[in-house]
Amino acid sequence: MISPARTGVALVICAPSGTGKSTLIKRLLAEFPRFAFSVSCTTRAPRPDETQGIDYDFLSREEFLRRRDAGYFAEWAAVHDHFYGTPLLVTQELLASGRDLLFDVDVQGASQLRRAIPDAWLIFLLPPSREELIRRLQGRQTETPESLRKRLRIAAQEIAQARWFNLWIVNADLEQAWQELRAAYIAATLSPSCQAGILGELLEEWEPE
Ligand code: ADP
Ligand code: 5GP
Repeated sequence: MISPARTGVALVICAPSGTGKSTLIKRLLAEFPRFAFSVSCTTRAPRPDETQGIDYDFLSREEFLRRRDAGYFAEWAAVHDHFYGTPLLVTQELLASGRDLLFDVDVQGASQLRRAIPDAWLIFLLPPSREELIRRLQGRQTETPESLRKRLRIAAQEIAQARWFNLWIVNADLEQAWQELRAAYIAATLSPSCQAGILGELLEEWEPE
């Protein structure tokens, strides 16, 4: 019998702000306990509901730049006037130990992760329309007219980068988007790169001719 052991899946999810990324990520982490969330470092201040070490590793700008120059990050980027970065070593250790990892990064980060982790699955969540994206951003009641305009401008730039992602999911109906994301994750767990040991184990059961 072959053992079901496998290495972890790296799932990178990008979306223009307001599309529904946080909503879908929460569901994925809740349903599949094998997932770990890749805790990024950031120089922005914690929000009231955020915890050091769980949502982010909150760093000073000096400490972030020191780590960046020491090669600590698999990727890093400046997003909305702050630095964000994904630690390399902990990422590699978690994947090797068989934990699946979810990366919530911006498009620049996804592009770097594609090189750092060639087996990563890159998923782009698309809003069904500009109008609906505006409705969702306004519904959150976190945007001023100026920040809304800025997010819409950035959204267009991000959507233009969706071409090099592996999968696109349009978040029109939440339930359908969830089923598609779930299916994408399950498919990713079946890729040969996650199950490298299986063929060797199976072929060992054959007598040499
Ligand atoms: P993001 O993390 O991409 O910025 P959120 O997950 O915070 O987006 O979602 C933005 C808003 O849109 C939230 O109010 C959320 O409940 C709502 N939302 C998410 N998906 C859908 C959907 N398919 N239909 C309608 N509203 C949605
Ligand atoms: P927020 O400050 O709202 O938590 O995140 C702002 C943006 O930064 C989001 O688009 C999020 O995906 C992105 N982000 C969070 N962590 C990282 C990271 O480690 N690297 C990169 N490149 N982007 C990140």
